[in-house]
Amino acid sequence: MSKFLRIKCEDCGNEQVIFNRPASVVRCLVCGKTVEEPKGGKGLVKTRILEVLE
Ligand SMILES: [Zn+2]
Repeated sequence: MSKFLRIKCEDCGNEQVIFNRPASVVRCLVCGKTVEEPKGGKGLVKTRILEVLE
């Protein structure tokens, strides 16, 4: 199921909303750290998830 996740970058503290099935690597908009990678049709989140948005 497709969802959006609210995450917090562990490096700079930026909060960002990302899709749980990204087509490509998702980076922090502030510092450029990789926060999510596509894996097997889903997303592998590399930082802290604050909230799952339905
Ligand atoms: Zn960041």
